[in-house]
Amino acid sequence: MIKTEEDYLKDLVGFASVSGDISESKKCAQYCANFFEDKGLLTHILEYEGYPSIIATTKNTKQPKILLYCHLDIVPGKPELFIMKKTDGKLKGRGVFDMKFACASYMKIIDRLGSEVKNYDFGVMLVFDEEIGGHNGTEALLNNGFGCKACILPDSGQDWNIECNAKGAWFLRVSKAGKNAHASVPFEGINAAELLLPVVSKILELRDSYKYEDLSLNLTKNFSGAAMNQIPDYAEVIFDIRYRDESILKQIRRQIGQICTENDAKLETVEIGKCMNVDKDNEYVKKFIPIAEKVLGRKIKHADSAGSTDGRYFGSKGIPCIVIQPRGGNRHGDDEWIETGGMEKLTEMILQFIKQYAKIS
Ligand SMILES: [Zn+2]
Repeated sequence: MIKTEEDYLKDLVGFASVSGDISESKKCAQYCANFFEDKGLLTHILEYEGYPSIIATTKNTKQPKILLYCHLDIVPGKPELFIMKKTDGKLKGRGVFDMKFACASYMKIIDRLGSEVKNYDFGVMLVFDEEIGGHNGTEALLNNGFGCKACILPDSGQDWNIECNAKGAWFLRVSKAGKNAHASVPFEGINAAELLLPVVSKILELRDSYKYEDLSLNLTKNFSGAAMNQIPDYAEVIFDIRYRDESILKQIRRQIGQICTENDAKLETVEIGKCMNVDKDNEYVKKFIPIAEKVLGRKIKHADSAGSTDGRYFGSKGIPCIVIQPRGGNRHGDDEWIETGGMEKLTEMILQFIKQYAKIS
C-alpha cells in the first residue's frame, strides 16, 4: 500500500512524544529513523542529555544544501488527542499543526523521489525539545557542525504567508529578599512578598508604552512563602517577554533594570532567545516564493510572527529559514487542526524546490 501524507501523520500523532518524555520520544525517533533508513538515506540518531535527534541525509555530509526541519515534541494532551481525526476539511489531534505535519510531508517527498533521491543534496533534521528551549536539539546540532545553505522550517505562519521576522524571548526572574518572622509580629520580619508587589506593578505598567507587535510582557510565575503563618523571607516572579528586535530588548532591559535598582530587587535572566530576521532578498527565499505561488495558484505575502521558533538558532549561524505553513490553528489547544490538502501542497512546493535547486550536477 502506498502511504499518503495523512497516513504518515496519523502514525506520528499516535506517539505521545510530549517534550521531556524521553521514552516516547525515542519510540517516535526510531519510527522515523527506520523510515529514512529504508529509503536509503544516511540516518543517525544523535542524543543530547538523553533527548534524541535525527539527521538523515542523501549524501555523507553534515552540511546538505537544503535541510528540512521538524520538531516532533509536543505539548501534553488528553489521550483522545493522540488518535488523529478527520472532519469538515480538517485533520485534528495533538501535533497535527505544531508540527508533525511537516515530517509527514518530508516522508512523502522521499517516497516520491524514490531511487532518484541520491541525485539530490538535502537532509532531514528532526528534534524533540523545541517546546522546551531547543538546547538539546537544534542548538546542539548546529553547534556540532550540522548546517545547510537554506532550511525549510514550517513552524510558524498563517495561511501560507512567508515569515521573515520572529520575535525573540527573554525570560527573567525578579526577586526580593526579606526576613522571616511569625505573622503575628510582622515588625520583627521583612515581608519579601509585599515588597515585591510594587516592583511587579511598575514592570507591568511598562507594557502600555509598547505596541503588541514590538513587545509582549507577561507575569507567568509567582512564588513566595513557606508557611501561611510566616512572614516570607523570599519572593520571586518570572516574566515572559517577547521582543521584536535587539533595540527593543535593549530598551526594556534598561527600564526593568532601573526599576529593580530603585527598589533593591534582584534581576536575573533565566533564558534568552534571539529573534529571527531573514532577509527578504535572500536568494533561497526569493527562489521559494514563485514555486509556492505556482502551487497555490495565488500570490503570497510576507508576514511577521509574534512567536519564536528554532529558526533563531539557524539565524544566529547565518542560515536563512523558509518559514511557511498550511492553514491551521489552535496550536497547543484541544482543537488543534490543519486543513486537509495542506500537507500535499507543502510536499509539492518542497519537492519542486529540491528538484530545481538541490540537484547534484
Ligand atoms: Zn512548533
